[in-house]
Amino acid sequence: MSLLSLRNVTSGYGRMQILWGIDLDVAPGETVLLLGANSAGKTTLLRSIIGILPCWDGSITFDGVAIGGEKPDQRIRRGIAFMSELGVFPSLSIEENIRLGGYFLSGAEVKRRSERLFELFPALAGKRRDAAGTLSGGQRKMLGIAKVLISEPKLLLMDEPSSGLAPVFVKQVIEVLKSTIGGGTALLIAEQNVAFLALADRGYLIDHGQVKLSGTRAALEADDAVRAAYFGL
Ligand code: ATP
Repeated sequence: MSLLSLRNVTSGYGRMQILWGIDLDVAPGETVLLLGANSAGKTTLLRSIIGILPCWDGSITFDGVAIGGEKPDQRIRRGIAFMSELGVFPSLSIEENIRLGGYFLSGAEVKRRSERLFELFPALAGKRRDAAGTLSGGQRKMLGIAKVLISEPKLLLMDEPSSGLAPVFVKQVIEVLKSTIGGGTALLIAEQNVAFLALADRGYLIDHGQVKLSGTRAALEADDAVRAAYFGL
């Protein structure tokens, strides 16, 4: 059974329709890549799933429950987390950023989980009282990941984890994702960087707010249109 299931989802801003009948599934523990160029509608889709944007039509089901009418807060409590492109609050300390990600947990639980995260991200542990804005781009992404992992989500939505990063840091982000996200968390990653396909079980190619293609990693890697647009082949 799918953990997340979208059927014929439409959405947009004001009267401007951006998403045109999206069908998409994510199974428990699965890693799914949402590949698409600038303005394809990837961010809009993630915002509709977390509930920042209303779903105009169609259905969004999570863990067997129709959540399309719920507020973001309710969806977060169900186990969906959203890592935006910016990911962190630069003026808050590293510790404060991580705590924010677990705002609905008890103080003791936040403390316990924070310490575990600092073990996973030792580079952040030494700077826990420094402002997030003092971190390098790569470290900020790591903090963004730690901030969403504290809620131990069933589904993590990530918006362009590679944005603003040099290729070497993109590689690091991928490595960290591979090593820290255990089998329990499903990932839906919006990216225009095809390197993230290496992480994915399956992928969707989004163009002009529509799914143009979907399939396993191998099928997408072998597709001529994907090879031409993303691998330059
Ligand atoms: P990018 O990589 O550039 O973020 P994307 O695939 O995430 O691309 P979206 O951000 O979802 O694309 O944008 C899809 C369309 O929606 C674009 O035409 C964009 O101009 C428009 N759009 C995005 N945000 C808003 C907004 N707040 N108000 C109005 N239109 C918006």
